[in-house]
Amino acid sequence: LDIDNFKVINDNFGHSVGDTLLRSVADRLRLLAGEDRFIARLGGDEFVIALERGGTDGPTLELATRIVNGFRAPLSLGGREILVSVSVGAAWLPEHADDAAALVRAADTALFRAKELGRNRIATFSPSLLDGSEARFAMEQSLRRAIEAGELSLLFQPQVRVTDGSTTSVEALLRWNRPGVEPVPAGEFIAIAEQSGLIMEIGDWALRNAAAAVAAWRRQGFENARVAVNVSVHQLLDSRFVERLDDTLRHYGLPAGAIEIELTETAFQTSSSTIEVLRQVGEGGLDLVLDDFGTGYSSLNSLSRLPLRRVKLDRSLVADAPGHGRTESLARSIIDVCHSLGLGVTVEGIERRDQLAWLADCGPVDIQGYLIGRPMPADDIPAFARNSAALLESLLAEATLASGGRRPQEPDVVPFDRERARSRRKQLD
Ligand code: C2E
Ligand code: MG
Ligand code: MG
Repeated sequence: LDIDNFKVINDNFGHSVGDTLLRSVADRLRLLAGEDRFIARLGGDEFVIALERGGTDGPTLELATRIVNGFRAPLSLGGREILVSVSVGAAWLPEHADDAAALVRAADTALFRAKELGRNRIATFSPSLLDGSEARFAMEQSLRRAIEAGELSLLFQPQVRVTDGSTTSVEALLRWNRPGVEPVPAGEFIAIAEQSGLIMEIGDWALRNAAAAVAAWRRQGFENARVAVNVSVHQLLDSRFVERLDDTLRHYGLPAGAIEIELTETAFQTSSSTIEVLRQVGEGGLDLVLDDFGTGYSSLNSLSRLPLRRVKLDRSLVADAPGHGRTESLARSIIDVCHSLGLGVTVEGIERRDQLAWLADCGPVDIQGYLIGRPMPADDIPAFARNSAALLESLLAEATLASGGRRPQEPDVVPFDRERARSRRKQLD
């Protein structure tokens, strides 16, 4: 088993707190597993518990469950309470391995799976996991080489204000141009980059290149261009993150308003020192954006507590709006809450005209999605921005036309025509 996000705690509170934490985790494990169990620390934040005659999976999973649940109560560390969770991988002899070393490897593979499923849980070994982990290892190796080989690139996806069609911001999205295959979207390799630590280097690269792009757009006449850069929690917790942002702005001669930082909520869950970094970023004039709101924890509390400027609603929130009463009300209410807190709103993943027509009715929101613009090369952005108002206008006109001038949430009912149906049946005969 290992401690979820231990590195974050270590980086945040320092190594001596990390050491104390390891000790109290060990104490808690002894309590949960029983004094007579064999418990060892393998290294880092990894522990092994051996069950003699655990027999079938029953007793093993019982203990694993007790351990995961046992960490629901906080640990107290020198007067401070810390909440940590653990992930557990389980494997047993002789089903999963022939000897001790292979057994630990099997448990480790299962542990990796538990992490992948979202941490704070148990996974058991199965041979199919092995194919997955080998494939993942191979991907990590080639991603490592990709950076040096210059196989990474950025595409840029515009965000357009529904009230006037202006291009308010442009999001930088990573692509991996692996030789011989279609460009791999970020969604397929960011998790591996984060698990392997490669995200630091990749994130730095993305930040510099996004800054270079926005500087070029501004020179080419898109004067108030802004670029939104996705930043992972690992980057944020690096002590030199704020400094690096400043250096980048200075190097490209950009005002702070030219770059927005997009963070997902997991970044905010770690600690008060994360919030401190965010404050520093905010005070430096960079806008913080909460990405993918509506997935994960989506705590309304973070909307009021964090120094945010804008919230991006995840596309799952609006996928079946309009037309589904509850989905529609929920999305509209979240938009209203954000607006009343003085936060800007971008709605992600807009693919259909009826969604656009509906959102045009929801106040000054921005939209991002395939309908208005797919991720595109940097060179295409200034022309896009020049035309975005006209593009939006024509999309809205088409949307109204498609709904026959009616409110978009009314379904298009085609009256049944007995004569036509009969003649069509004849044709088919
Ligand atoms: P995100 O920040 O939420 O980015 C939006 C994702 O939705 C992008 O996927 C984009 O291509 C996709 N998308 C945009 N419009 C539509 C639409 O209308 N329909 C659908 N189905 N999808 C749409 P992508 O490029 O695969 O990126 C996935 C995630 O990877 C991003 O989610 C972001 O969290 C992360 N990411 C991308 N670039 C970076 C980066 O430079 N650094 C870090 N740390 N993460 C990145
Ligand atoms: Mg994003
Ligand atoms: Mg998003």
